[in-house]
Parts: sequence; C-alpha cells; structure tokens
Amino acid sequence: MSFAGKCAVVTGGSRGIGRAVCLELARNGADIALCYAGSEAAARETAAACEALGVKALTVQCDVSEAGQVSGLMEAALAAFGRIDILVNNAGITRDGLLMRMSEADFDRVLAANLRGTFLCMRAVSRQMLKQRGGRIINLGSVVGLRGNAGQANYAASKAGVVGLTKSAAKELAGRNITVNAVAPGFIDTDMTAAMPEKAREALLPNIPMGRMGTAEDVARAVAFLAGDGAGYITGQVLCVDGGMAM
Ligand code: NAP
Repeated sequence: MSFAGKCAVVTGGSRGIGRAVCLELARNGADIALCYAGSEAAARETAAACEALGVKALTVQCDVSEAGQVSGLMEAALAAFGRIDILVNNAGITRDGLLMRMSEADFDRVLAANLRGTFLCMRAVSRQMLKQRGGRIINLGSVVGLRGNAGQANYAASKAGVVGLTKSAAKELAGRNITVNAVAPGFIDTDMTAAMPEKAREALLPNIPMGRMGTAEDVARAVAFLAGDGAGYITGQVLCVDGGMAM
C-alpha cells in the first residue's frame, strides 16, 4: 500500500485512534493534515512522529462542529499540500447518561461533534475531490451506532446518523470515483474508554468473542485498507473492527 504524493486530512488526530490513523497513513507515505480540539501539545507530538516517518505533517486547531473552522482546516491542508485525497472523520466525544437524565446540552454537543462535524468535513472536501476526480472518505462510526447502548442514547444516535450519512454520500459520489465508507470500532483502548468505570469495562469483555479490547492500531489498519487501492470497489460499507462483538 502506498500513499506517496497523497494528502490525508485526519480529524481528532492528536490522540487515540486518530493518532494511530495518522501514523499508519504516514508510514505508507501520505502527508498528513491533522486537527485537534484543545490538545495542542499532543497534536504537535503526533505531527512530529509522522514527520519522523519521512512525510510532511500539519496541525490545525479546529472544532469540527463549526463550519468556518472546518473551511479553515481544509484551506490550510490545500495551501500546504495542494490536494486532499483522503478524509478520515475521526473526531468524536461522549457525554454519557441515562435518557431520562440526559440534558439537551449533552445531546446536542455529542450530535454536533460526531454527526454535524462529519457532515461539515465531508461537504468541505467533496468539491475538491470532485475536481481531483477521486478520493476516499472514511468515517468513524461505532458498534454502539448499530446496536444501541444503555447510557449512550446521544452517542448511539450520532453514530447511527454517521451510517446514514456514509451511505447517502456513497451513492451521491460513487460515479465520481469517490468512495465513502465507515469503520465501526468496538471496545478500543483509548482515553475515551479509559474514562469508563472499571466495573463497566470488565462487564464488556465477556461480550467480545476475541476476549480482548482492541487497540487503536487495529482500527487504523482497517482505515488504511479502505483508503488504499485494494478497496477501490468498496463503497457505502460499515466495517466493524470489534473482535466479533457486533456479529
Ligand atoms: P479520544 O481518545 O477521546 O480522542 C478523541 C479525538 O477527537 C481527540 O483528538 C480530540 O481532540 C478530538 N476531538 C474531540 N472533539 C472534537 C471536535 N469538536 N473537533 C475536533 N476534534 C475533536 O477518542 P478515540 O477513542 O480515539 O475515538 C476516536 C473515534 O472513534 C471517535 O469518533 C469515537 O467515537 C470512535 N470510537 C471509539 C471507540 C473506542 O472504544 N475508543 C469505539 C467506537 C468508536 P483533543 O485531543 O484536542 O481533545
């Protein structure tokens, strides 16, 4: 797999799965434009790790739920690299709570970051990809968006929305050589899941046929596959990377 001469925009590339995606794409030759919400030092560290692999890397602070900031991110990527070949919509948050007690603010914030952010980034790159006559868009969903999860109504709704967005955009863009797919991770060892109570983490393990949490690298390799030449005839799909959790 070679992404030499290509540019990938990765949202939420400062930590966790996004960081692993940046490194996997960089290892295969892609220049990287990564955005972060607040973790500037972590974003710079990811960029430095990409550059150590021999590619160019750019960091941009961007709240993906803000259209103006998303435009700024794509403009910065184009100014630095002249093209955008791959978009990975990875930025995401949780604000867990039972439905009856969930505040409107927590519902709206999760939908804004996870679903509106994905929409805004896809809309912003699609024109450029049309000009380039091709592109790859990979959206991070979740098995929770396919199956639901008590205490995560907002998050599940946002990730189910990502599936609908992915399939609709795949149909709109297929004729223009742009593929749009989603990767749905299961239970992956990152800051997001580290925030869960230990009891909840332990309760999840028996539901994973492979008997372990996934790593950020497990997910990153699937994202890189969908971004690569080998996946050229795959679009509108949701690839679960979950150790068998959702089958
Ligand atoms: P994480 O460790 O919490 O990292 C989240 C990343 O998203 C950070 O880089 C963060 O930036 C960025 N981000 C958050 N809100 C943002 C915003 N509004 N604008 C721009 N960037 C923003 O999360 P993760 O576990 O790696 O998850 C990555 C993706 O995979 C998410 O979409 C998540 O829903 C999905 N996923 C994760 C799991 C899992 O088990 N971990 C399972 C299924 C799906 P800062 O560092 O600046 O805060």
